[in-house]
Amino acid sequence: MGNLKEIIERIEKARLSYNSRHIVKIVAASKYVSEKEIEAVYHEGQRAFGENKIQDMKQKMAQLDALPIEWHYIGRIQTNKINMLLDSSVSLIHSVDSFETALEIDKRAALKGVRPHILLQINSAHEETKAGVEPDKAVDTYTHIQETLSHVQLHGVMSIGAHSDDTHEIKNSFERCRGIFEALSPQGATICSMGMSGDFELAVACGSNMVRIGSAIFR
Ligand SMILES: *Cc1c(COP(=O)(O)O)cnc(C)c1O
Repeated sequence: MGNLKEIIERIEKARLSYNSRHIVKIVAASKYVSEKEIEAVYHEGQRAFGENKIQDMKQKMAQLDALPIEWHYIGRIQTNKINMLLDSSVSLIHSVDSFETALEIDKRAALKGVRPHILLQINSAHEETKAGVEPDKAVDTYTHIQETLSHVQLHGVMSIGAHSDDTHEIKNSFERCRGIFEALSPQGATICSMGMSGDFELAVACGSNMVRIGSAIFR
């Protein structure tokens, strides 16, 4: 048994203290585990799983083909692997980290006649080691993608909380991303993907409606 039930209860508490109508979706980050462990968590009721390597995701998709799993891609996007990503049945790509990456996806999507669902990754903690658009450019970049690219479909934003022991710093990074998300909601943004095993309750308290949780579920 994984720890899904306990995680759901913790999210439930965090979302109720934020807003009783606030709904949070869990993406189980399954990158460290095998098909067998994914299947076990699936049978506990989990339907969305996230992978950060395209090759691994494709392999797991093939092995678990009989189950109606929703696959999310949460890893870095290399240009030479975009075709492979688009040929898979990925349901949401969280990690589009620049206009250029969106453009490369869009070009290939146009050739294949597909309309991939994507989020724009925001580097809301201003960390050099992290991918994503700088917060002060996020709204412009999002708008530019929406106005110029016709195959990618933007649904919102994704962010990784500050890598810090200081709760205030992590909270600030989440609130920055939530602010961007709210500014984009008139443009149709509905997903604010933030929060991992170490900080998902804080992320939900800051308005996240999609958490990506790995190690805390597959403990
Ligand atoms: C691995 C990963 C997660 C989940 O990390 P945990 O700390 O194991 O919960 C979330 N988001 C991204 C982008 C990841 O690569």
